[in-house]
Amino acid sequence: KVNSFAHQDELGVRSRSPRWAIAGKLKSQQVTTKILNIEVSLGRTGAVTPVAKLEPVSVGGVVVSNATLHNQDEIDRKDVRIGDTVLIQRAGDVIPEVVKVILEKRQKGSLPFTLPNNCPVCSHEVFRPEGEVVARCQNMECSAQVKGRIDHFVSKGCMDIDGFGTKLVDQLVEKKLMKNVADIYSLSLDQLSELERMAEKSAQNIMDAITASKKSSMARFIHALGIRNVGEHAAKVLEKSFSGNLENLMDAEIEALTAIHEIGGIMAESIVNFFQDDTNKKVIKACLKAGIQFEAVEQIQESEFTGKTFVFTGSLEKFSRKDAQSMVEKLGARASGSVSSKTDYLVAGPGAGSKLMKAEELNISIYSEDEFLELIGK
Ligand SMILES: [Zn+2]
Repeated sequence: KVNSFAHQDELGVRSRSPRWAIAGKLKSQQVTTKILNIEVSLGRTGAVTPVAKLEPVSVGGVVVSNATLHNQDEIDRKDVRIGDTVLIQRAGDVIPEVVKVILEKRQKGSLPFTLPNNCPVCSHEVFRPEGEVVARCQNMECSAQVKGRIDHFVSKGCMDIDGFGTKLVDQLVEKKLMKNVADIYSLSLDQLSELERMAEKSAQNIMDAITASKKSSMARFIHALGIRNVGEHAAKVLEKSFSGNLENLMDAEIEALTAIHEIGGIMAESIVNFFQDDTNKKVIKACLKAGIQFEAVEQIQESEFTGKTFVFTGSLEKFSRKDAQSMVEKLGARASGSVSSKTDYLVAGPGAGSKLMKAEELNISIYSEDEFLELIGK
């Protein structure tokens, strides 16, 4: 019965909307059905994902009852509402998606659908930076994400805790011995030894690895926190910009962050949102209290060069490019690879060509290697 109903509908749609008929004929199969509800779930990376619960319908011999709605933008664009009759399509093994709403069949009084502002799992506020289509939950204790967050925290580029594998994490979380990354530091040898297939020797090795991992760096720790959009490189940039002071980073406002070269608006929003969460603050505090230490960060001097941009060109003879970069970075300046109106100083070695010409055109101060060393007082 459902089939014949769907079939009729489909024919109706085709006669009114030939564009879809062509798309349908090509490869994917389309049928109409009704949206009974829109449920919101959370992906492994904390992405808020809306799913349409459908009146079960057969598409190409497979009965489907779910269709993905992707995100709020998709819902808005197609104006999908609960109770709507929709055309869905399924291509290959992919989860069906809603192609369009059959507006003629819309129930009176239906309302546009808006995703909640809170995580469907932990109810913390979700965040969606300007220009991103997906909203996310950044709560470090969100149970839908906690295993993944711990896996990331202990991984090589992060806190690097040897032997702390995925299976161990699964067991610890399932046995409720851990609900956040800070709980790593309160695990006992007995707790570990009692786990399945855990020899006392291995348990001791893990305890030792946990202790060893406490000597770390602010960059590693920031990366380990799993702030959305903040990878290994950005973590290093933040460590340097905040001179190893985590508290200042945690209190930083968007403007202070976007002022840092290499930190864009979306990243800045992610960072501020992450550190605003009280649970996250609590977890970080617990980690530090457990004895995580950051290695000293070389201090950046405030100087007349702070915030300036240098470009080095030609074959440098007095110093390497890497040394040049580190010299200007210590002065709070940065080295860039290309000349633009934002360039403040061009340092030209022998054989300088197009960059030198461009700098001359733009009236940028040009220095030889010796003049550069003199300029910065070396
Ligand atoms: Zn959550």
